Amino acid sequence: MRYHDSIIDLVGNTPLVKLNKVTEGISATVLAKVEYFNPGGSVKDRIAMKMIEAAEASGALKPGGTIVEPTSGNTGVGLAIVAQQKGYKCIFVCPDKVSTDKINVLRAYGAEVVVCPTAVAPEHPDSYYNVSDRLVRETPGAWKPDQYSNPNNPASHYESTGPELWEQTEGRITHFVAGVGTGGTISGTGRYLKDASEGRVKVVGADPEGSVYSGGTGRPYLVEGVGEDFWPTAYDRTVADEIVPVSDKDSFQMTRRLAKEEGLLVGGSCGMAVVAALEVAKRLGPDDVVVVLLPDSGRGYLSKIFNDEWMRDYGFLEEGGDEAHVGDVLARKDAIEH
Ligand code: PMP
Repeated sequence: MRYHDSIIDLVGNTPLVKLNKVTEGISATVLAKVEYFNPGGSVKDRIAMKMIEAAEASGALKPGGTIVEPTSGNTGVGLAIVAQQKGYKCIFVCPDKVSTDKINVLRAYGAEVVVCPTAVAPEHPDSYYNVSDRLVRETPGAWKPDQYSNPNNPASHYESTGPELWEQTEGRITHFVAGVGTGGTISGTGRYLKDASEGRVKVVGADPEGSVYSGGTGRPYLVEGVGEDFWPTAYDRTVADEIVPVSDKDSFQMTRRLAKEEGLLVGGSCGMAVVAALEVAKRLGPDDVVVVLLPDSGRGYLSKIFNDEWMRDYGFLEEGGDEAHVGDVLARKDAIEH
């Protein structure tokens, strides 16, 4: 019989798929690492596994313990699946701007979700940050992974994503492109590829215009899961050779093209990373192999990026003129989460 002992055995070992249409006119090979093949549907399953296993090994997480993390997105799903299979409880804290669909996914996996008001200052006792800190203090056996500062976030990519890409490309990868959120993916994968290639592989970060990584101040943008208004310690500033800023409009238009032309229904940060990858690939020749990492699926964005009305509202369907509706975007900023 051929089977896996549990769903979490399927984390990692995701496929590389060549992009054929959006690459028209480009002679370099552009390959996508499609992370929605992970069981929780995103790249974050990798860090969930590694952070939990390391906490078990160090004794920070004990049998019957509870994982508490302020997250509403992909990291929550990854943690919920791994925790459930290993017998831990999960409590996630998220702001009330998060869609009920996302909250229901976490509850479906058996996690408890505590919803906090968005409209209070960070120092307010009911704020997202204070509630999660209080839950950690008050819950016996609680452990907070903290993906922004946990070294096992980048370490998971150094141990899995990096070696997978090196093997899959038989060492022929020349450029690695990824969006930067906590910075775990680019720091761990990029460092591994640089070590394996003795510095030959170039690492490129893709960042929403306005975020700190590309020199912004944290100005709001709508692409989810990437960009920051602070510098997380999970991000190693010495790894990326270049950071390419990408607008919301370009990110979302490319996301829609990936579904329509490449059969890849992926999230907005994937479109953003592909825009950056193509910008790099345009400068390269036929011997170059560019790998772009696509973090998650488009299923979670059907009512936004794949909804014409939403796209039109922000001016994202119009030709030319970029970011004409920044004022609207600022005023009606939706959930920007990880
Ligand atoms: N895209 C999406 C959809 C994400 O959820 C994340 C994680 N925040 C990223 C990209 C960025 O990955 P990382 O945190 O490893 O930088």
